[in-house]
Amino acid sequence: MSFWPNNYEGEWTLDQAVLRKGIGLHNGKKSEVRLLPCDQAGFHVSWIDSQEVPVTLNAFQARDSQLCTTLELGNHRLSTVEHLLAALVGCGLTHVHLEVLGEEIPLLDGSALGWVEAIAEVGITRARTPCLSPPTLEKPLVINRGRSVITATPAERFSLVGIIDFPYGAIGKQFYAIELTPQSFVKEIAPARTFGFIDQIEHLREAGLIKGGALDNALVCDGDNWLNPPLRFEDEPVRHKLLDLIGDLALVGFPRAQVLVYKGSHGLHSDFAKALLKEST
Ligand SMILES: [Zn+2]
Repeated sequence: MSFWPNNYEGEWTLDQAVLRKGIGLHNGKKSEVRLLPCDQAGFHVSWIDSQEVPVTLNAFQARDSQLCTTLELGNHRLSTVEHLLAALVGCGLTHVHLEVLGEEIPLLDGSALGWVEAIAEVGITRARTPCLSPPTLEKPLVINRGRSVITATPAERFSLVGIIDFPYGAIGKQFYAIELTPQSFVKEIAPARTFGFIDQIEHLREAGLIKGGALDNALVCDGDNWLNPPLRFEDEPVRHKLLDLIGDLALVGFPRAQVLVYKGSHGLHSDFAKALLKEST
């Protein structure tokens, strides 16, 4: 699709509003999101069933949660925002208003593709105000939680390198590197679906999580095999990990850096996002 921007330099919003409905991965409840054009830089959330003023999203609203990224927005919590935010920022959008009904963003097919298709359906257009400045990085940055590590090295452009290592034959060790542009995001990253493990499903259900998880919205790994093939890419899991990282960087922006992530998690991504902000100030 040639109408995507060539890079992440410009300011872009939606041409028209577009609505998507679905169910949340963890609470299993119906929810909906309307994506609207916006004149104000950044991403802003308001509630379809409330008159409260819109909240502008920032990285400090992110709360550590086990399997998804949750934002604390005044009296509201909004969960599993990462695939939607990845789609917005990955497609090059910089000015978007989201009207939300529910406490969790619909999971759709477990990837960012449904959101990319929604954006493509209405098209994008230049926004009327400048976009927020991305974080700057003068020297290499290293963030870790135990053996899980993210490094960022100053570079000409934003690129990502992902490495995962799971003790399951179906996944094993995977490596994926990409110079990110809206086009490469849409083609190579957005379709990669979330994944889970059959031996953890019962435990997660008991913990009140993944109530909306199903074989049509998550790849399920059973040791050496997948319960619901085919995969969209041979290395779909590592691509999905980069999708999650992109979503978790959405509220900070993309640094001019090569970012390498080994065994990433939402908690690690959020530490990294905050460290980037600190380096920039
Ligand atoms: Zn994910």
